Amino acid sequence: MTASIPAGGAAAQAWARAAQRALAADLPHQLRQRGASILVPSKSADGVTYHVALVNGQAGACDCQAALNGRAACAHRAAVALRLAEREAGIRITAIKSADVVQRFVRAA
Ligand SMILES: [Zn+2]
Repeated sequence: MTASIPAGGAAAQAWARAAQRALAADLPHQLRQRGASILVPSKSADGVTYHVALVNGQAGACDCQAALNGRAACAHRAAVALRLAEREAGIRITAIKSADVVQRFVRAA
């Protein structure tokens, strides 16, 4: 009984956790677009904004420290992917059962 652990491999689990962090902070609904970048507010630092590239309808690279350190699954990219998934499905996502919905909208590195 491991229902609390997201299905899939390590990458899927990392994306599920990133999506949960994004949802907990309501990041998908605090996004703004500037050109080809989506601006995502920092969860921890007031006034700090990160930039996620929008590439072919997917969340591309992020410029946060975690991403710069090589962590693909940051909450900012997950927030953008969640918003893209919401727009496609026409629903508001409040929780995710699997990382699939997020990973579909994340551009592979
Ligand atoms: Zn990030």
